[in-house]
Amino acid sequence: MTMADDDIALVHAVALAVLELGDEDLKTGFAMPYPDRAQSVLDRLTLTCLSRGTRPPRSLPDLVMWCGARPLIDWPLRLPREVLGGDGLLVDVRRSRPTGLCREWAEDGNAVRPDPIRDHLEKAAAPDRHLACREFLAEYQIVSDDEVTAFAGDRAARRTWRLVRDLYRPVPLALVRRGQAARCTVCRALSAPLASGGWLCEWEACPAGEQLPELLSATGSLVLAEAARRVISGVARVEQAVVGLVRSHGAAVTREVEGLRIDWPEGGHRFVLVFDHGDPALLARAVGRSAWRDRNPLVIVPAERLRARPDYRAVFGRLVVGAPTLVADAELVDLAGGSATWGEV
Ligand SMILES: [Zn+2]
Repeated sequence: MTMADDDIALVHAVALAVLELGDEDLKTGFAMPYPDRAQSVLDRLTLTCLSRGTRPPRSLPDLVMWCGARPLIDWPLRLPREVLGGDGLLVDVRRSRPTGLCREWAEDGNAVRPDPIRDHLEKAAAPDRHLACREFLAEYQIVSDDEVTAFAGDRAARRTWRLVRDLYRPVPLALVRRGQAARCTVCRALSAPLASGGWLCEWEACPAGEQLPELLSATGSLVLAEAARRVISGVARVEQAVVGLVRSHGAAVTREVEGLRIDWPEGGHRFVLVFDHGDPALLARAVGRSAWRDRNPLVIVPAERLRARPDYRAVFGRLVVGAPTLVADAELVDLAGGSATWGEV
C-alpha cells in the first residue's frame, strides 16, 4: 500500500465512524468510552498527525469539529489531488449530520453499495416489491400514529407497511423540539430543529430550506432509520425519477443488486447505474468497483451535481475505468426519445 492508499483508507474509516455516531451523538456529545470504531480512528489519525509533525484532534468532539470546519485539503494527509475538490467537509454543522461527501467516502471501498432497504427486502423475500416500497418510504420518512392507523384501511398500504415497518424507529431526541418532530412540506424528508429556532430540511439540496414544515407529535410517530433515510433522499430519489421516465416510454424496469435494468418495448436492454455523488472522483471509483462496469452502463447523476462542479465530467472521464456514459437525470428526456442512444442490446 502506498501512503496515499493508507490516507484514503483513513478518510474512509473516519467517514464510517462519523456515520456510525449518528445524528444523536453529533448533536449531544459523546459518552466515554467512545465507540470502538471511533476510538480506533481517533488513534490512527493521532499517530498519522504526530508522525507528520501536526497537532492531532484532542478528542472525539474535536475530531467531529475538524470534520465540520476543516476541509480535507487541510488535513495532514497525502490524498490524490482529484479527491480534494468541493468543500471537503464531512460534517454539516447546521444540521448536526454527516455530509453527502462523508457518505460517499464511507461507501468508498465497498464492493456492493450499502443499502439497508435492499437488504431488508431480500430478507423478507420481497425483492420484487423493491421499487414500490421505495416509493412508500420516500412518502413516509416519518409516519404519525394516525397515518399508521389509516394504512389498515388501505389494502396496498397495509401490505407495504407490513413489509417495511421494521425499518422504522421511535423519533430520536435530536429531531424533537417541544414534543414535536417535523416533515418537510416540499420533499417529505425530516426537518431538523435548529439551535437558533426554526427547522431545516435534512436533505441538503432541498429547495425548502428553512420553510415552515408540517409538525407532528413525536410521541407515537416513527421515523425511517437514518441509514435508510440516506438512501431515500439520495440515490433512491434519482432512481424514482429515472423509473418514472422510462416507464412513461413503455419500458420495463427491474431493480437488480447493482442497479436498474431497462428493457425497451421494441427489444434491447440497457444497464443503468444511478448515483447521487457530489464528488466525481469518488463516483469514478464507485463505478470502477461495480460488477456492471464492463457492460457499458449509463451512469446517471442529478443535474444539480453537474452544475455544482463544472469539472465534474472532466474528472469523472479522466478517472473512470472502462467506458460508461455519464448522463444527468435531466438529460434523460432527450435520450429516451432516441433508441439509437438508449437501445444497447
Ligand atoms: Zn425538504
